[in-house]
Amino acid sequence: MREKANFTHLGTKSVWEGEKKQLAHGATQVPTVFSVGYSYNDLDHWLDVALGKEEGHIYGRMTNPTVQAFQDKVKALENAESCTSFSSGMAAISNTLYTFLKPGDRIVTIKDTYGGTNKIFLEFLPNINVDVELCDTTDHEKMEKEVEKGCKILYLETPTNPTLKVVDLKRMIKMAKSVGALVIVDNTFATPINQNPLQLGADLIIHSATKFLGGHADALGGIVCGNEDLVDKIFHYREINGACLDPMSAYLLLRGMKTLELRIERQNENAMKVAKFLESHPKVTNVFYPGLESNEGHEIAKKQMKGFGGMLSFSVKGGMDAVKVFMPQLKHAHKAANLGAVETTVGPPRTTSHVENTPEERKAMGIPEGLVRYSAGIENVEDLIKDLDQALSYIPHQ
Ligand SMILES: *Cc1c(COP(=O)(O)O)cnc(C)c1O
Repeated sequence: MREKANFTHLGTKSVWEGEKKQLAHGATQVPTVFSVGYSYNDLDHWLDVALGKEEGHIYGRMTNPTVQAFQDKVKALENAESCTSFSSGMAAISNTLYTFLKPGDRIVTIKDTYGGTNKIFLEFLPNINVDVELCDTTDHEKMEKEVEKGCKILYLETPTNPTLKVVDLKRMIKMAKSVGALVIVDNTFATPINQNPLQLGADLIIHSATKFLGGHADALGGIVCGNEDLVDKIFHYREINGACLDPMSAYLLLRGMKTLELRIERQNENAMKVAKFLESHPKVTNVFYPGLESNEGHEIAKKQMKGFGGMLSFSVKGGMDAVKVFMPQLKHAHKAANLGAVETTVGPPRTTSHVENTPEERKAMGIPEGLVRYSAGIENVEDLIKDLDQALSYIPHQ
């Protein structure tokens, strides 16, 4: 079968999509439009735009041309019917959940969601009387049983933060569909280059654009993609509740996304080589990376991912004390809470992604206190490996 005439590859889409419509004056780059209001002499035209009958902008909390360009690019990359953006990844997640959940509803999810997301499940949803079922992330059978009992939403994330567990999307989506549940997937770690849950049947996918989409750790943002009906509802919640993406961040994210495919291919490669190096290192006790054949999620990852991503984590002999010794010695890595940037970034989940959780909660999530999360950057991988090797040598022999 011949490809559709309008088919373009993801690398081309990341460069071109979303931009042309917003260009003016022969400019080749999308303008950053800071204007909050938009002026109309023709009141009828103004009304039509306000009612959504004609394209245009009214007020910055609702829509903005620069934000529009960013959304259109992600929409094209995820091959989605519609999408809407937010001030952060957490805003995207919370607004999406609050759009659909009412008191008395039930949601099924996994224990290994992002720390902030987990807090919504443990604290804020119970506050409004939503019943939350947290399942062991890799126990698909149990998860299927819980979904089968009936639920409004099945909320998934794969690979997970920080131990890179893999959830079988096709299998779980099938079960959720059979009970009419909405499936929402946080696709932050994989990016549209490595995984497309919408193509596997998910209803909505969410990104923290702050991470790999932007890629330069200089702007916060979030985005939700899916069919128009669902996204319209989420947009309505957001336009009233106000967690909109600002134009400056939208511009930075848009610019970062032009190199998305280049960066992700490089980060996939770097993470794989670093994971293999760490796996063979005598001071390393455990490496969590779905690209490793030894990883329990490897077979599922191979089925549903085009690349295994730039994220991995590992634990070292001697636990947190050893981490304190070796981590400061890393020269080509920021020790920071962020991930997905062009620079390699490391941090213990205990002080980064899961700092809001108690030690008991982290233990229940299967996160060793001495775990190091490693976000591979785009550096030369030989330098990254050399750097890890010299830093690990500071850990005393036991
Ligand atoms: C960082 C992150 C979030 C939250 O995004 P923010 O932009 O920091 O609000 C959600 N999910 C995952 C998987 C993340 O890594």
